[in-house]
Amino acid sequence: MTWDAVVIGAGPAGAVAARELARRGCSVVLLEKAHFPRPKVCGCCVNGAAVSTLQRLGLDHVLASGVPLRDVHIGAGRRAATVKLPGGVSLSREAFDLALVREAVASGAQLREGMTAKLGESDADTREVFVGRESVRAKVVIVASGLCGNDATPEAGSKIGAGVIIAADAVPLFFSPGTIFMATGSGGYVGLVRVEDGRLDVAAAFDVAFVKAQGGLGPAAEAVLGEVGWPRLPRLAELPWKGTPALTRRANALAGERWFAIGDAAGYVEPFTGEGMAWAVASAAAVAPIAARARQHWEASHAHEWEAAHRRVIGRRQRACRVVSRVLRSPALTTAIVRVLSVLPVLSRPVVRSLNRSSSSLPQGVRA
Ligand SMILES: Cc1cc2nc3c(=O)[nH]c(=O)nc-3n(C[C@H](O)[C@H](O)[C@H](O)COP(=O)(O)OP(=O)(O)OC[C@H]3O[C@@H](n4cnc5c(N)ncnc54)[C@H](O)[C@@H]3O)c2cc1C
Repeated sequence: MTWDAVVIGAGPAGAVAARELARRGCSVVLLEKAHFPRPKVCGCCVNGAAVSTLQRLGLDHVLASGVPLRDVHIGAGRRAATVKLPGGVSLSREAFDLALVREAVASGAQLREGMTAKLGESDADTREVFVGRESVRAKVVIVASGLCGNDATPEAGSKIGAGVIIAADAVPLFFSPGTIFMATGSGGYVGLVRVEDGRLDVAAAFDVAFVKAQGGLGPAAEAVLGEVGWPRLPRLAELPWKGTPALTRRANALAGERWFAIGDAAGYVEPFTGEGMAWAVASAAAVAPIAARARQHWEASHAHEWEAAHRRVIGRRQRACRVVSRVLRSPALTTAIVRVLSVLPVLSRPVVRSLNRSSSSLPQGVRA
């Protein structure tokens, strides 16, 4: 069968794109290599911008079980500052991603789990997608397969990601629900947040050399948390940490004949500002009207249209995030900023507001 759209990867980007395409009358199959619910290394904070986009799509109910976020508590050395947040929720990726996938299916997309897919060649009317030894064809393909999904080139010196989730009964009271705890240290940073069932999600970004020097991801997290002096998490170093490849990466191409890349597959910047899911859902919402037109009649201009739309919706935000991640490379500068914010937290307001503002560049087609 030839599908109107094949979506590779059912994270937030793929699930929202599949839903939006199905709602536009496309036949859609969503191919996912894992089985839901599946965990994912992530800080699990859905920021204000992501919440707004989900609202505009009529999808904010998927966040109903999330914990509303009040503030972020940033530690550097023995200094700490608490900065108010204008919105956002914490929600485990098991719950968030499953809810979005269900919405895609409810809108008519077909989900195939346990399927590792690969973009094939195109002919005059379709593009092939390999699924194991078989293949399917589609008028358009959405590549939403995450960090490594589109052969994006990692930036030299990029940090790697790490994550683990801690049972609710092992979490010290200090880590109260509704606050994001962000410990910054010489080798990276560690974010901690309580999710909907009281568990503590721990997500980190580390320099590779630091992880090697500390003897692993868990010891690296212990070292960064030790620098800020917050309560110890029992047996943190021995927990089953999961790692990621280099985080900051640029896609070599955002689109090609009959395919479009979205979410992390379109490029990513390390997660200190916690925006990846906002970029994922915004790019899914923005690509859907272009892809829906492209499946009717493909023209090379559709690829250029997506490159320009991606630059507008996501590019500016990723540039700002890059600046923040460069500042964080200097522990002295980070400590100085936290020292200033501990006295005058109000100074962070413009940055926090801008990070949480929904993109005004989302297309008209994004509807509730
Ligand atoms: C340490 C860390 C902390 C973070 N914290 C936050 C945060 O607090 N807030 C925030 O907004 N963002 C955060 N992010 C970023 C966020 O996790 C990502 O930006 C977001 O998940 C991107 O969504 P996506 O749908 O593009 O990709 P993903 O969520 O990675 O989904 C891709 C999907 O594709 C599947 N897949 C991969 N390859 C294939 C294949 N060949 N065939 C079929 N399926 C495939 C995968 O199994 C996966 O389900 C963090 C990231 C890291 C590493």
